[in-house]
Amino acid sequence: MTPPPPPAYDAPADSPIYANKELYSRIANCPSRTLQDYSLIRPRSAHAWIVRAGQVCRITAPQGAQVGDLNIWNAHNPRERFWASRTRQLHQSHVSTFDRLWSCLPYMRPLVTITADTLSTYGVDSSGGRVHDLLGTRCDPYIHHLMTGESDDFHCHSNLVRAVAQYGLVESDVHDVLNVFQVTGLDSKGRYFMGTSPAKIGDYFEFFIMKFIDLHFFRFGY
Ligand SMILES: [Zn+2]
Repeated sequence: MTPPPPPAYDAPADSPIYANKELYSRIANCPSRTLQDYSLIRPRSAHAWIVRAGQVCRITAPQGAQVGDLNIWNAHNPRERFWASRTRQLHQSHVSTFDRLWSCLPYMRPLVTITADTLSTYGVDSSGGRVHDLLGTRCDPYIHHLMTGESDDFHCHSNLVRAVAQYGLVESDVHDVLNVFQVTGLDSKGRYFMGTSPAKIGDYFEFFIMKFIDLHFFRFGY
């Protein structure tokens, strides 16, 4: 097989596209970090919260294998929100430590930089799957009804819509997600598949909230 062309978005190593690994390693390993807030998100629910610039947010797997759908907005201007597909182009289809999660146009800023990922060595499994998925998006009641005829309003999309209402956001504000701890890939026909989450108790995925915006808020739903 002919090798693929080089990556389309291949910036110089010192471009702001890429994180300063030394700096973000120091943040990840900073001994003076203290816990400011904590929330337990139960299965098939979602939670919205605010994280300040300069803070680190850690998502854990307290009961082992599980996945969550992450949305991110600028809390001062929710028109600026996470752009999954551009992030996929700039970094990779499945993100990990030092990748950045970028905002939509016309902002195009790194909202967060990933500082740690205990599943960073997962690599490519025997099915071709990788972890922390940017290929897919949230499940939703509309496609579920079209495919099965059933009505069920506890999909990730529905949970996310309910969770963010307290911040004045509406259904159309919910956007494509980062599926944290989710293994996915494309089969030989290019069809999207999902595998079992490899997350074990104690695994975590964390990111630093960039300094140029005062506040962000996030949502995570199972
Ligand atoms: Zn779902």
